Amino acid sequence: AKMAGKNCYRYYSRAMDHAVERRVHMEQELRGAWERGELRLAYQPIFRTRDRRLVGAEALLRWQHPALGTIPPSVFIDVAEQSGLIEVIGPKVLRAACMEAAQWPRSVDGEGLFVSVNVSPRQLRGGELPSLVAQCLLESGLPAARLHLELTETAVIGDELLAAQLLDKLHRTGVKVWLDDFGTGFSGLSHLRQVPVDGVKIDKSFVADMQRDPDDLALTTAIIAMAHALGITVVAEGIEQQAQFDLLCQRGCDLAQGYWLSRPVTATTIVQMIEKGDGG
Ligand code: C2E
Ligand code: CA
Ligand code: CA
Ligand code: CA
Repeated sequence: AKMAGKNCYRYYSRAMDHAVERRVHMEQELRGAWERGELRLAYQPIFRTRDRRLVGAEALLRWQHPALGTIPPSVFIDVAEQSGLIEVIGPKVLRAACMEAAQWPRSVDGEGLFVSVNVSPRQLRGGELPSLVAQCLLESGLPAARLHLELTETAVIGDELLAAQLLDKLHRTGVKVWLDDFGTGFSGLSHLRQVPVDGVKIDKSFVADMQRDPDDLALTTAIIAMAHALGITVVAEGIEQQAQFDLLCQRGCDLAQGYWLSRPVTATTIVQMIEKGDGG
């Protein structure tokens, strides 16, 4: 038994070493990835539920490595966050998204589309985000109202006062702030009163379970009602079926995003979709 235990430990430890090695290797590769042109932004269209008009898009980072292939953000964003590299990549993403969105044509009904950019909790440290945002807007010429920032619920809980101050500074630049993955954190609905956000994105896990689980449907309905009472926009993400879309429309959800409407597309394709007034 002793022997087996030892072997077992050794095996486990080797597997661990392997995982650590892989992470270190990935971190090294990620360091120069932007400069080598391996990182790109994909855009996932966001539609208004009322008339299914394309109104904006979320910028999603993609990494195409020459040897490792396509590495999903669920893997490399984590590496970037743990290593602190996100503090270098995050600003590049923001700048690039502003530059690209500033070049988008107007939609068929003459409106400018918004671009929604993910901001990692680590980028909120140091308090430089508001000035970076102002700088990116100035450089790109993108109107502030067309930039949305997606912060996670967990990034703004803990220190409500600090969060409120940060949001205030961000709002003064004219951008909109959305809470991403809403409902998955522990802050709950009452938190919405203390943290002045413009929108919430209902997490895709709720959308996925809504039809099966009455609790998830009840919670989704409550989020929409509460958000609306506070004048907050509601976006649902991860819509994969028409039935989910219909149910969310019926409950009054404002905006919708998901594979059923459109997968994330390239920078070129989003421009074509805007020109065509693509209703999905
Ligand atoms: P997220 O912010 O929650 O982004 C939505 C994710 O859901 C995207 O995955 C999107 O492709 C996926 N998705 C969209 N519609 C559907 C659907 O109908 N069904 C399902 N199952 N999934 C759907 P993606 O692109 O793999 O990104 C994963 C996560 O990586 C993002 O989750 C976000 O947290 C992070 N991420 C991506 N780009 C950036 C970035 O530029 N900066 C930061 N900080 N994080 C990023
Ligand atoms: Ca997001
Ligand atoms: Ca999300
Ligand atoms: Ca997420």
